[in-house]
Amino acid sequence: MSGFTNDAPLVAAFAKAHRIAVLTGAGVSAESGLSTFRGQGGIWQKFRAEELASMDGFLANPDIVWEWYNYRREVLSKAKPNPAHAALAEWESECEEFTVITQNVDGLHRAAGSMDVVELHGNITINRCLSCDQEMREQPTRWEGKVPLCSCGGRLRPGVVWFGEMLPEDAIMRAIHAAETCDMFISIGTSTVVYPAASLPMIAAEHGAYTVEVNPDETPFSRYANLIMREPAGEAVPRLHELWRKESMARNER
Ligand SMILES: [Zn+2]
Repeated sequence: MSGFTNDAPLVAAFAKAHRIAVLTGAGVSAESGLSTFRGQGGIWQKFRAEELASMDGFLANPDIVWEWYNYRREVLSKAKPNPAHAALAEWESECEEFTVITQNVDGLHRAAGSMDVVELHGNITINRCLSCDQEMREQPTRWEGKVPLCSCGGRLRPGVVWFGEMLPEDAIMRAIHAAETCDMFISIGTSTVVYPAASLPMIAAEHGAYTVEVNPDETPFSRYANLIMREPAGEAVPRLHELWRKESMARNER
């Protein structure tokens, strides 16, 4: 990418960026091998995604839904954060404010060391009780053919947002706040077509943030982004981080 570091507006934007918000989507997880999260084999193959990831589907076939989630947790237990996850976690430790807003449910940002993470669609490694609403972190366990139960006796469900369900209100509020108050917003590996995530880059732009898109493909957000990197996240994000580090150090020395 020739001319990258000679781009004056970009360098100026990086030099003053100390509140950064990042939105990540499926493209980031794909580089950790989680692109076909639906998986191969298993009785769940006969069901549509809406029949597995919905309350109606769960109530109709709880064992099959759980078998599917157990399979996904097993796949996930072998997945590792990639260079994009690692760069974002390191970046956070060097930056005044740094929020990762993610549409992914795999928990890989936290696994990489990110602390300020907003999980818009929940987290697949967390269980929630249908009766008392208590949440608990569940490690993938050997599937024993029946729905796990809470200590209160209620049935447990995965802590993800299912089809037809509202996104957690506190997560939306935190995401909007981060978009409104950041001075740089970086959208990574997300198609920016699903709301409310799709509105976040626009909110950031309206509030004066410098906006960056990292995505091999064009998205609805592309025409508004100040900088576009048509590359995999694992390559682009570490380079963005390095540039920010260089420019922010130069700023501190001035
Ligand atoms: Zn309970």
